Parts: sequence; structure tokens; C-alpha cells
Amino acid sequence: MSDTPLFSSTKSCWETYASDEHRAAMDDTAVRYLDFLTRCKTEREVVAYVSEKAAAAGFSDDPASGKYMRVFHDKTILLARRGSKDPSHGFRLVGAHGDCPRIDLKQHPLYEEVGVGLAKTHYYGGVRKYQWLSRPLAIHGVIVKTDGEVVRVVLGEADDEPCFCIADLLPHLAQKQSEQKLSEAFDAEKLSVIMGHEPLPKPADGEEKKSDTPEDKDAKSREANPVKAHILEILRDKYGIAEEDLYSAELQAVPAGPARFVGLDRALLGGYGHDDRINVFAGLEAMLSLEDEPEHCQIAIFWDKEEIGSDGSTGAKSRFMEYCVQDLIDAWSPGASFGRVMENTKAISADTHAAIDPDYQELHEKLNAALIGHGPTFCKFTGHRGKYMANDAHPEYVAWLRRIVNEAGIPWQMAELGKVDQGGGGTVAKHLAEYGMDIIDMGPPVLSMHGPFELASKADLYATVLVLKTFFAS
Ligand code: MN
Ligand code: MN
Repeated sequence: MSDTPLFSSTKSCWETYASDEHRAAMDDTAVRYLDFLTRCKTEREVVAYVSEKAAAAGFSDDPASGKYMRVFHDKTILLARRGSKDPSHGFRLVGAHGDCPRIDLKQHPLYEEVGVGLAKTHYYGGVRKYQWLSRPLAIHGVIVKTDGEVVRVVLGEADDEPCFCIADLLPHLAQKQSEQKLSEAFDAEKLSVIMGHEPLPKPADGEEKKSDTPEDKDAKSREANPVKAHILEILRDKYGIAEEDLYSAELQAVPAGPARFVGLDRALLGGYGHDDRINVFAGLEAMLSLEDEPEHCQIAIFWDKEEIGSDGSTGAKSRFMEYCVQDLIDAWSPGASFGRVMENTKAISADTHAAIDPDYQELHEKLNAALIGHGPTFCKFTGHRGKYMANDAHPEYVAWLRRIVNEAGIPWQMAELGKVDQGGGGTVAKHLAEYGMDIIDMGPPVLSMHGPFELASKADLYATVLVLKTFFAS
């Protein structure tokens, strides 16, 4: 007879972790996570943070050391630790993503209209456009000059720095818009970020020349676009760049300001990018807190481009992970079969799940929905409609995971994203499943997902770290 209770039920992390010791550890984890989320608002900033922490813990580009780290295009990073068992027994692999929905600046961003200097944008990932209007924004990213110099940009975060903003209509003039369908009311070409307003002073009389040299063309452009000219001069003074340098730039408008505790009891965590930086943090935390020489070799990999389908050289569909695993096989088990290593790997696609929204409970099928505070959510399959485009974890693997997580006494839950045919989504899981490895989605439930200020439970973060530690050490 099994000692599993006849009826299944989820457990509250608050009840399970009620002791002072657990609560102190929970608070400590939350404070460090909020600092990480405040500092890391682009995939590059995430990778820089992870590589700094990993290097301090002894990870390097030398696989012979047993603690390997490889950064790819500053947007994706793989960490690996050698285990006592040969890689042929497979890795314990945790994958998460460091990219988040945002408002990217176009390559020709700057223009001015009616005395306002603006930047054209092209949104990235699944954003609800209206959420980005009329709120303080910061600009993060890089500008690369033709000599190869990479200029790092973080504007609008410090208290004494100006921020940016996308303007919204006043209600008095929004009557027609308010009757439109939400999907049509907000035009993506009207999400321009306000960059400035003060024109450059006009040149004194007599300074103007009539020839056609490049300098004079510049002078004409300045006169026709005095606000844009002022913005360009400020950028030139600050970064030594000209307008053409923006062609080779990646500048992202993101919510300005810090991540912070939410609620009188400080039990919720609010910030930009829980999806999926909460799992990057939890995966890193879990890996770095474990002893060297675990039983199985471990990989933590933090990808870019998940929000737009995992394409591109830094997304989960790329060959980057394969190249790294091949290097690890060469170093740790020369001649081992790549296919066998991958087939024997057990993986968690650590990604956030939708928590039941207290005001929109009707969108969820409650028997199969995730409750915030009840631990990380395992999701056997993702996809949409009739499970199209889904990874579907094998029940043998789900049973194995149930066993190790239950033995560790960690609250967890099993859920789907929403009601059938209500929507859906995908993660990196299906791309890793192509190698034959066992993989399942798991992550803390989040409210306001993809919004500029997402909410997660402090208790779920704590439990997620514990699940990933248990998994890595299995
Ligand atoms: Mn995600
Ligand atoms: Mn997402």
C-alpha cells in the first residue's frame, strides 16, 4: 500500500516554511533577488551578473577544472559542474531565459515633431501595449562603434538622472479610441519614447554658409531638427557617438526604478522581468550553493530570445548548447556518445507559470490552475488548443520528480496555463526535448505576467530554489 494520501492537495509554502529559520532564509533570498532584478533589466545584464557570480565561485572557461562557464555573445551563458558519474549517465540540466518583453528602439530612432524629440520603437515579445504608456522608462543596452568599442548604456535609473516616457492620450480626446477593440486601439507605431524637448540654440547670423560640404549639410539638419540635434549632441558628449552609431545598437526601453516588496506584509515581490529572471536567479542560487563533485554532472543554461520563439544564435534552438556539451564530453569523457549523453539527461525548463488571478478566476480551470504561494508549478505540457507545439513530459519522469520533491518535503503543484482553448504558450522545453532528454516545465506562479511590474510570492521563490537544489543533487 502506498502512503500517499487518497486525495491530492497542494501545500502552502507559508505553512511549510513557518519556522524562524526558514523565514529568515526566505527574506534573505528575497532581498538578494530584488537586488538582482533591479540591476538586471536586459539579457546582457543578466549574463554579466551570472558570469560574475560564477567566476567568484570558481567557474572558468577551462573544463578540466570541473567547473565550466561559457558566455555566448554576452546574451546566453552555460555553467557546468562535473559529477562523480561519467557524462554518459546524463546531466541534470536546468534551463531558463534572461530576455523579457520590452520596447526596443528602432535602428533609425530619432525624430522630432511639434517641439518634442522622440525615438521610434519596435516592441519585443508579448506586450500589452497600453501598459507601457505614461510611466517612467529607462533605456538600457549597448551601442557598438565601428572600431569595435562597446558602449554600455543605462539611462534613467539613478535618482538624479532623467527618465523617459511614452505619452498617452488624455481621456477627453480618447473617446473614439475607448470604443475600439483593445487589439486595435493601440498602434505599435505610436509607441514612441519621448527623448527630449529643448532645441539647440540657433547659430548666430552670418555663421551660416551656403556651400554643400558635409559640415553644412549637418548645419541644415540641425536647423530643421533643433530638438533632435540637441539630443544627438547630448549623446555625443556622453558617449562619443553620432546618429549612424545607432544602426549598430541594441537599446531597450524598460520600466525605470527598483524591484520592491509589495503588500503590508512584504510577502509579494514586484518588479520587471520575473518571467523569467526569477528562474535564472533560482537556478544560479541552487547551483552555486551546492557542493562540488555531485553525483551527476550539472548544467545551468540561461538563454536569450525565448520571448520571441527561441530563434537566433543565442536562443534555445541554436547549436550553442550542443557545442558546449561536446567540449565537456571531450574534457570529461573522451569518446562518449553525444546522443547517449543527451538521451540520459534529465532537465527542467524553469519558467514562470500563470497564477490564478483573484479578479479573473473565470479564465482558469481551478482544478488545474496554479495558486500563488503553493510552490513552484510543474506543467506537464504547454502548447495551445489540442496541445499543439507542446513538449509533453512522460509520466515516468513526472513520477520520478514527484518522488524526489516529496521526499524533500517541498510544496509544489501541477497545473496548466488556463482553460482549454483560452490561449496558451510555449517555452524552451520542446526544443530540448528534441534531443530525447526527459524535460518538464516548472516555475513559480506569477501575477501580471509580461507586465511592467510583475508579482511573485517570496515563498514560491524560496521553494523554487529548494526544488532546483534537490533536482541538481539527485
Ligand atoms: Mn518565460
Ligand atoms: Mn514570457
